[in-house]
Amino acid sequence: MIRRSFYLLKIITLAVLIFLFGLNFSLAQRVPTPEEILGFKVGADYYLATYQQALQYFRALEQASPMIKLFELGKTSIGKPMIYAVITSADNMENLDRFKEISKKLALVKGLTDEEARRLAAEGRAVVYIDGGLHASECAPAQHNIQLAYDLLTSESPEIRLILDSAILLLIFANPDGMDMLADWYHPNVGTPYEVSSMPWLYHKYVGHDNNRDSYMVNQVETQNITRLVNQEWYPVILYNHHQTGPFPARIWIPPNSEPTNPNIHPLVVRWQNLVGSAMGAAFEQEGKEGVISRFRYDSWYPGYVTQVVDSHNIISILTETQLYRYATPHFYTLNDFPEEFKDFTIGVFYPNPWKGGWWRLRDAVDYCLTSSKAVLHTAAKYREVLLYNKYKMGKDVITRFQNEPPYAWIIPQTQWDLPTAALLLNKMMLLGIDVYKAEKSFVSDGISYPAGTWVIPMTQAFALFVKAVFEEQNYPDLTKYPALWQGLVRPQIFPGAYLPPYDMAGWTLPYQMGVKISVANTPLEASLSHVKKMVPPTGSVEGGSGYAYLLSPTTNNSFIAVNRVLKKGGKVLWARESFNVGGKTYPPGTSIILSHSVSRSFMDSLAKKLFLTIRGTGSRITAKTFRLRAPRVALYKSWIANMDEGWTRWLFEQFEFPYTNIHDAEVRAGELKERFDVLIIPSQSTNAIVNGHRRGTIPPQYVGGITSKGARNIKRFVEKGGTLVALNSSCLFAIDMLDLPVNDVLKNIRPPRRREVPRDAKPPVFACPGSILRMEFDSNHPVAYGMLEEAPAIFNRSPAFSLLPSFEGKKASVVIAKYPDGGLLMSGYLKGEKYLLNKASAVEVPLAKGKVILLGFGVQNRGQPHGTFKLLFNSLYYGSAE
Ligand SMILES: [Zn+2]
Repeated sequence: MIRRSFYLLKIITLAVLIFLFGLNFSLAQRVPTPEEILGFKVGADYYLATYQQALQYFRALEQASPMIKLFELGKTSIGKPMIYAVITSADNMENLDRFKEISKKLALVKGLTDEEARRLAAEGRAVVYIDGGLHASECAPAQHNIQLAYDLLTSESPEIRLILDSAILLLIFANPDGMDMLADWYHPNVGTPYEVSSMPWLYHKYVGHDNNRDSYMVNQVETQNITRLVNQEWYPVILYNHHQTGPFPARIWIPPNSEPTNPNIHPLVVRWQNLVGSAMGAAFEQEGKEGVISRFRYDSWYPGYVTQVVDSHNIISILTETQLYRYATPHFYTLNDFPEEFKDFTIGVFYPNPWKGGWWRLRDAVDYCLTSSKAVLHTAAKYREVLLYNKYKMGKDVITRFQNEPPYAWIIPQTQWDLPTAALLLNKMMLLGIDVYKAEKSFVSDGISYPAGTWVIPMTQAFALFVKAVFEEQNYPDLTKYPALWQGLVRPQIFPGAYLPPYDMAGWTLPYQMGVKISVANTPLEASLSHVKKMVPPTGSVEGGSGYAYLLSPTTNNSFIAVNRVLKKGGKVLWARESFNVGGKTYPPGTSIILSHSVSRSFMDSLAKKLFLTIRGTGSRITAKTFRLRAPRVALYKSWIANMDEGWTRWLFEQFEFPYTNIHDAEVRAGELKERFDVLIIPSQSTNAIVNGHRRGTIPPQYVGGITSKGARNIKRFVEKGGTLVALNSSCLFAIDMLDLPVNDVLKNIRPPRRREVPRDAKPPVFACPGSILRMEFDSNHPVAYGMLEEAPAIFNRSPAFSLLPSFEGKKASVVIAKYPDGGLLMSGYLKGEKYLLNKASAVEVPLAKGKVILLGFGVQNRGQPHGTFKLLFNSLYYGSAE
């Protein structure tokens, strides 16, 4: 009996163990399908996975498979963890650190011989970066990430096995905040008349679509996270950034890219882009997927994109644009929807299999993204060794080139108009993987001597082409000079005989934008240099006794932060209206005079240190004419037509610690603005968008309409009662028209239309200046231009230019703050029709009853880049509340 029950117990125990083991085994090994976690199939009609759901799924994958691991990149703008997945074979996963090290060694080249490079290339794995969801409203790519992970972890196909063995995939959600914002907006609208309405706010806390224009300036935290991953940690061979605005009716746009091509790219990058693109095209044809187009619309001129910024880092960038209807809503297309030139299905070298119309669903777009991602991975895996060796080869070529030809180095002296900003530029370069050095001793370059401490960027480094791409002047090519050469190869714009505009900016030279003085070494540089590990501007301090006041220079942007902190603490600040002398030194207008009795010395000491400022103390009373500065009460207009310029302005105010209040249309319509605010900022936006907003029926009712003419009248009243209206760039036209200002926009009838608005019978434009840097003159005696050089570079970006109408009796005349000089305007980019701008005003103060309108008619704060002209915006705020 006892014996029997013992056996029974044994059998039961064994059975339980087998059961538990089996269960455990299946829990650990079975990879869940996306549907099991999300509750719907990836790409299902009307369903978008949120970032939280995607993350939940990826965590389940990490539990189930040794071939995926999650890491945190950093935080997003609203503080979510930004997670990326590494997917590769279990064996590779064991040796990630080694593969990372190989990747880095080959990328940086330092000290490698050809033979060592070949050995490392044989041993290494092809690291491939793929992201989805950068532009959140282009929603298929982020959803495709989920399916791609599942397919890679579960497929038994030889192609996928090769990928897992030979490549390491870094799979990234590039804009997690946006992914959630979009799902939150879309889902409640499904089944209502507003199912496909635009979101009335940006799909990123600050910059929306411009998150793909930020990559050389790395202002936003998401850009910083991705930049660190790419340029300091993984050094991928290929970086693939998915988008979803295919040129209709094509279903996907893939490389080869369009013209023009940035000159600072190693030819191997271009060759590989073409090869990978062709491999992708072949994969689509093998799967019978129609409508794949190349060499159309998307060029690689501007290096601020997530893709193009890495071209000059010897990374093969791949951009695709899958077709989208709207969100997860399906749509049926007929031939009637097609543009004329696509109706007869004419085939071409770069469009050999036209799409014929029919249904297009989110899942179709996801499938196209999957085909292209897998083709990229497969190509990387197949060519693993040669790709890795080529990575080394490109870096080596760049180093060899700049050992033998100029520029040999860039020299950044410490005598700068705004020294902390110069250091900031170098910090950005370091984040982007550039080695910066400091001279140990004085040296001479091209006959000029530089003191010890001078910063130097030698060009004998693997990513030197990037420095060249952002430091030199851009000379945007006029492709129409050789029309036959480029015919059919460029994006089909209907500009007869006209230049072909770039997809984005034509010129961006960073030292110009940031107001940083640099020089170039045209002969080989001989200097003893030490590598800068962490860039710190020279320490700030408070100099001299401070019985009466502390003096802050108006030339340094960080002074604004200091003044804002003083004002916040209740300190008393005077603003010099004329120059004055203290201790044998002349202080220009705009110098901030912080009265000593209102702040403590230790507070000023800490400001000087933290903000790298030289603050001068003085015991003698200053008798110059001054304004009294007050913390301005700032209203920043926010349209329901989501406006990136508003987001950038908001971001900039936060960086420089200007308090502000966002106001919407309803508040402008309600009026009583002067009671609440001193200064009203209208970010760059069209008059139509500001006044009329969204049309009825296109969006839920609470977001319909703009400020209306009533709001415009309220703005006028705000100014008449003593308020200051600051209009930025395009919105100057709103101010001129709606407030009836005595100012003309001289470009009104000659501005070329925006890309999509070009009519068929368009004439060649007589004036064209697509995002470029122009020379400008500033009146630094005017409060708005305090602290500016008399001449400085500024960004022209769809900007107006002003002529002033004579003022009428009893009215105060308008005052020019900045203007274009009488020649030599173009500094970087492209300008046709310079004569229209000569001597025209670019920034104006227009008095109106008790108040004033400040027209800042250029990109003073464009994308948070031109540190050299931020002052005009900041000064406008102070000027608006100064007494
Ligand atoms: Zn996009």
